[in-house]
Amino acid sequence: MTTGPRVIVVGGGVIGVCCAYYLARGGAEVVLLERSRIGAGASSGNAGTVSAGHPPLNRPGRIRSALAQMLDATSPLYVRPRWDPELWRWMYGFARHCTAAHVTHCMRVMAPLGKDALGLFDSLLGEERIECGYKASGYFDVCATQAGLEAASHEADVISGYGYHPEVVDGDELRRREPAFGLAVLGGVFYPEAATLNPSVFLERLCVAVGKRGAEIREGAAVEEVLHVHGRTVGVRLTGGEVVSGDAVVLATGPFGAALARRVGVKLPLQPGKGYHRDIPIGPNGAPKLRVACVLNEASVFCTPMDTFVRFAGTMEFSGENSDMRRDRLQQLSRAGRVCFPDLGPARPVSEWCGLRPMSVDGLPIVGPLGDIEGLTVATGHGMLGLTLGPVTGEIITNHVLGRGDARLPALSPARFG
Ligand SMILES: Cc1cc2nc3c(=O)[nH]c(=O)nc-3n(C[C@H](O)[C@H](O)[C@H](O)COP(=O)(O)OP(=O)(O)OC[C@H]3O[C@@H](n4cnc5c(N)ncnc54)[C@H](O)[C@@H]3O)c2cc1C
Repeated sequence: MTTGPRVIVVGGGVIGVCCAYYLARGGAEVVLLERSRIGAGASSGNAGTVSAGHPPLNRPGRIRSALAQMLDATSPLYVRPRWDPELWRWMYGFARHCTAAHVTHCMRVMAPLGKDALGLFDSLLGEERIECGYKASGYFDVCATQAGLEAASHEADVISGYGYHPEVVDGDELRRREPAFGLAVLGGVFYPEAATLNPSVFLERLCVAVGKRGAEIREGAAVEEVLHVHGRTVGVRLTGGEVVSGDAVVLATGPFGAALARRVGVKLPLQPGKGYHRDIPIGPNGAPKLRVACVLNEASVFCTPMDTFVRFAGTMEFSGENSDMRRDRLQQLSRAGRVCFPDLGPARPVSEWCGLRPMSVDGLPIVGPLGDIEGLTVATGHGMLGLTLGPVTGEIITNHVLGRGDARLPALSPARFG
């Protein structure tokens, strides 16, 4: 039974689907509009790790290391050289947030959100009986250089001050726990407070749960404009002219949200940050059968075991809003894998993919009322943590839209950009 307002959620990525779920569960009449198909953005092909509480990308020293890497197409970070004033403005804003004080601020916001996220995954998957390969068995951050090891240990130190329990381990201990690691691995950190799952299976099954709770899900429905009368949201207009009416609208359009926000006079400081995955089948000529997931520290590549394959996912590329796949970026994933897994064979990948992360200028999600139009809310900017923060964002948005209030919202609100 729906007893609450009629809410339109725009965008069928993990954020939109989670918002739709908690809104429908809270009694709202929900319509989810996706311009393409559910999971068409970054939400289906990501690395599948649920892990928060880490410092943001904006941190002291980041600009120096980024400048050294950014024009090299084979480094973890790549910026395609081009004239794009929006990108350069965003990079200037990003650099201004690379301070120790900002890291402390983000840790205070994100560390408790990460705890909430893990708890919500447990209850959501249990209550809806969603089978998606969820394993709450942590992951390793593994290093093949002394510099990597020092950076990883420093990050572990920071995180342990916020109620997390990372464990620094040497190379021999890592190989004892995960025999697939080769001798090049010098050591690393084990993060017990983390989980992994198959993100496309999670999204597909969560959509079934959303439908069962009475929400309407429409694919191929592109929103062109948010409609408002006397400062109140009244619905949206789709490409083609159809009007869908609603009392409230939630923009969960990932990195594509800036254009819709601009139409209501708000500038969202977002850039698309492209990442890739390569799924290598498990077997003698392919990937080792990993016991737990890991991230290869120096290359920033996640290796997540998913049933019959290992997903190698990562890299950050600022090349605008496109889905062009660069072979050199994809090859980088396997190259990084071979450093730590000497037995990684030449088997053909079962999938190659790229997706765009919604990167906010300050490394925090952008969640809350948008502009001065009553009933209009945004939920984007989750960067490298959209899967992790999907359920908790859905809960915060629901509390806000249904008028219950949520103490976690002010730190995430777009109002912080002035
Ligand atoms: C390689 C890689 C690895 C990653 N690994 C992880 C990880 O391990 N853990 C983690 O937590 N996160 C990870 N992420 C990040 C995560 O995938 C993203 O943060 C998340 O998917 C963003 O979700 P979203 O719903 O905001 O955006 P999206 O998934 O982009 O969804 C937005 C949707 O809105 C739709 N849309 C846009 N405009 C309109 C419109 N006008 N009308 C209707 N629909 C519209 C789009 O078609 C799209 O489907 C990774 C990302 C990448 C690229």
